[in-house]
Amino acid sequence: MSQMADIATVSPESGPALPGRLAPYACDPARSRGRRHAEVEAPLLAANVRNPHQRDRDRIVHSTAFRRLVYKTQVFLNHEGDLFRTRLTHSLEVAQLGRSIARALGLNEDLVEAIALAHDLGHTPFGHAGQDALNACMAEHGGFEHNLQSLRVVDELEERYPSFNGLNLSFETREGILKHCARRNAELLDAQEPGGVARRFLDGTQPSLEAQLCNLADAIAYNAHDIDDGVRSGLLTLEQMQEVPLFARYHAQTLAQHPQLQGRRVLYESIRRMLSDQVYDVIAATREALAQHQPDSADAARQCPPLLRFSAAMHADSRALKSFLFRNLYRHPQVMQTTDWARQVVSDLFAIYVARPHEMPAAYAARADVPRAVADYLSGMTDRFATREHARMSA
Ligand code: MG
Repeated sequence: MSQMADIATVSPESGPALPGRLAPYACDPARSRGRRHAEVEAPLLAANVRNPHQRDRDRIVHSTAFRRLVYKTQVFLNHEGDLFRTRLTHSLEVAQLGRSIARALGLNEDLVEAIALAHDLGHTPFGHAGQDALNACMAEHGGFEHNLQSLRVVDELEERYPSFNGLNLSFETREGILKHCARRNAELLDAQEPGGVARRFLDGTQPSLEAQLCNLADAIAYNAHDIDDGVRSGLLTLEQMQEVPLFARYHAQTLAQHPQLQGRRVLYESIRRMLSDQVYDVIAATREALAQHQPDSADAARQCPPLLRFSAAMHADSRALKSFLFRNLYRHPQVMQTTDWARQVVSDLFAIYVARPHEMPAAYAARADVPRAVADYLSGMTDRFATREHARMSA
């Protein structure tokens, strides 16, 4: 009965149900800067069915690195629980948030989806602990950056095609994947690919609005799901979360409207409201920025300051939440204990493979630059494979 009543009181949804037309500032797939390797034209019918950014998304979904994301984690290790986010579910959440916002702003949803699904492909096992450890191991050999590694995965490491390495993605997807890059690496990349995806780090320009959107959707996603995972793991409490204005506001709203609500539904409803409000905030603030700067093409938008943004108030709230999570979750003694262990596993494996490259698969063992080959092999591992390899090699 109550269900019937609920349905009867729900108002019909308004707003665009179908993807709208691309705004002038969106990346138009018909004007893509193309791929690095020439490809045989797809049959006309197939070409009409999928644009270049849809093809990119499909290549990413079918890649080996994408399937590995299911056994890679960022905060909680894969074996600690079945319900915690993995890099795969995180990437899907980023794609969902990104597409919603893209549709509202007239941006290229397919491109947003492709970037979102690929943005974490280069992450090491064991989240940030693994990345830090590998970066330290590689200090004398050019370092290790996960954004750059995501690009290496799609440019070099995937082995899917007969005549080239990698997935041969379009410029726009690759531009979005390379979210950060140290200046030294940008110079090296730009020497290999003059005027390519690394150029903007040297010019100080912005990536496409679709790429900017993915960065923001990434932060919205992890801030929300880390609260969820943090509370469910028992490492964070709802009481503690009251010191975070962004959460406390929606928590209070939830309890005011549903005084009887208890348990995890309070948590979920608070997070749901927080997510929705951030999405609406980004849409409103970005519309304002677009109205002010009026970019009339994707390239004009790249010359503007970052236009995909929160309002000033939401930006401050989001930063406060991030710093709360840093202090109370990522630096929680229980998390630190497992990250210390993870760091050790990565460092040990690195030393072992450098000393005995033949322990790696033949294609890696045969490479001249041993440290880079080890970094590529090791960063591709899932949490559980790295754990097993460590046990095997330490036996
Ligand atoms: Mg991410």
